[in-house]
Amino acid sequence: IIRSQTQVNKVLLEKMPNLKVIVTATSGFDHIDLALTQTKNIKVMYVPEGNALSAAELTWALPMACSRKLVQGHFAITRQSWERQPLMGTDLEGLTLGIIGLGRVGKKVAHFAHAFGMHVQYFDPYILPNTAPHFAESTSLMELLRSSEAITLHVPLTKTTKHLINQSTIENINLQPILINTSRGQVVSEQDLAIALTSGRIGAAGLDVFEKEPLPADSPLLQLPQVVRTPHIGATTTQAFARASMGAAQKIVDYFKRSVTSDLLP
Ligand code: NAD
Repeated sequence: IIRSQTQVNKVLLEKMPNLKVIVTATSGFDHIDLALTQTKNIKVMYVPEGNALSAAELTWALPMACSRKLVQGHFAITRQSWERQPLMGTDLEGLTLGIIGLGRVGKKVAHFAHAFGMHVQYFDPYILPNTAPHFAESTSLMELLRSSEAITLHVPLTKTTKHLINQSTIENINLQPILINTSRGQVVSEQDLAIALTSGRIGAAGLDVFEKEPLPADSPLLQLPQVVRTPHIGATTTQAFARASMGAAQKIVDYFKRSVTSDLLP
């Protein structure tokens, strides 16, 4: 049983010739070389539901923190400043949120946004439209980038989603949105994001995940006050750990006692 910091690769598997089954107590699985586990006939299961709610709640904290300059306000008080003009914020009600990837986390975020009176649109070419919440409107990626005042990423890291947000896609953005990423760091080109934040094309960013974790000390994202950063804590709640751990343990028991597999990865 592993979490996302264990890289399942050739080096690891060579040390474990009798390994039959891996359960990752996470919803992401980009840390596992699935082509390799398949050739070795190792079953791999994951726990997709374990932390979706917790990731969605953390996601929701980020547009709130960005739009109301929460972190800047906190540090203003810490340095004994009561100057409120630089902390002028924006209401979320009435704004359009664009969700890229309307899966487990994306759908929960859609409901939070709806409760806040936001318009919700999404880009996800793989879901059936009747599985989307009734208030959410399907759109193209380019239209979503063009017409959203907040954009949130909830896709898995794949060959297609790597650097989905890059210099060329950023050119479609024109409402100085808040960009939220709690999916995987490599979905965003950080270099291009830093340029867009500096020029003002992207207004602010709330990031829980980074291309390199821990975030290197020379990252340009560390210098920008309009960036709210958290150290990949989307799934770090007591309840999410309990759900994911119990879910993973149950899958091992089911596999060895009843030969049952669930949430099997290809
Ligand atoms: P999910 O599989 O339920 O949903 C992903 C959605 O993305 C699916 O609906 C899929 O159709 C869609 N998608 C895939 N490729 C796409 C593309 N190219 N363009 C648009 N949509 C695409 O996954 P989830 O449980 O909602 O998790 C979403 C992401 O959040 C994953 O990257 C996961 O690793 C990450 N996550 C991070 C944390 C954290 O601690 N920050 C916690 C949980 C999940």
